[in-house]
Amino acid sequence: MPPQLPPSGAPVIDLHTHSTASDGTLAPAALVDAASAAGLRVLSVTDHDTTGGLDVAAAAAARLGIELVPGIEISAVSDGRDMHILGYFIDPAAARLRAFLDRQRADRVRRVEEMTARLARLGCAIDADAVLAAAAAGRSVGRPQIAAALIAAGHVHTRDEAFDRFLEYGAPAYVPRQGTSPEEVIAILHDAGGLVSLAHPGVTRRDDRIAALAAAGLDALEARHSDHDAAAEQHYRAVARVHGLLVSGGSDFHGDVGHRAARLGLVSVPEEDYAALKGALERRRHRAS
Ligand SMILES: [Zn+2]
Ligand SMILES: [Zn+2]
Repeated sequence: MPPQLPPSGAPVIDLHTHSTASDGTLAPAALVDAASAAGLRVLSVTDHDTTGGLDVAAAAAARLGIELVPGIEISAVSDGRDMHILGYFIDPAAARLRAFLDRQRADRVRRVEEMTARLARLGCAIDADAVLAAAAAGRSVGRPQIAAALIAAGHVHTRDEAFDRFLEYGAPAYVPRQGTSPEEVIAILHDAGGLVSLAHPGVTRRDDRIAALAAAGLDALEARHSDHDAAAEQHYRAVARVHGLLVSGGSDFHGDVGHRAARLGLVSVPEEDYAALKGALERRRHRAS
């Protein structure tokens, strides 16, 4: 395990978590409760392609004295592959962001329907209605929910098996997203008043794109992440310095064991990195006003 525990007494800052608004297992209020119990002082809820959990999370955070950073993790597409883009301090009501998220939601439903049809042709029928009912209820649906349906139907034993055999890029049931470029996502998140960070670059492994994204206004790299070891964090801190970018970080907590960080409070952004992000936000807002 990488040495990611903060020094004792330091504020625990986690800028990457998921709730049931996307593919997390804890409802937004329960996620904030769990963050409080784990000693977090600053929390960002960053659900995939939705801000649906933010209002409830903000109310719970206010009650518990936690600083909530309104966030999102948007799936962009570059060369047919997903790149995850984190937005922080966003205004969820921004019109351009809202219109974009409506389009993303429609594309997620289309993908679920196409992947379900492919699975049926492969002899692995699943209960798509349950997945699409979640979408109708405002949740972001996609491959994680299809993996769960494959397990429920007895076609696979684990989420990893579902991705390896059927759902991974290039696997027989994989359907590409209708892509929005990372550059366009950066512009949409800036338009919503936010800062933008490239999620888990050590997992996505598209270092070749970082210079162009920095030129397009990217603010930070998520150098610190539960899937990055100490060498990966140091690498991305160095890459960030080269391109004049800041550093963000978080657990990518989903609530379930065996999927990214299994506990809150284990991955914390150093106070100085968080202060630098807030300073950049101030400067951006000052320029915009
Ligand atoms: Zn991600
Ligand atoms: Zn995530």
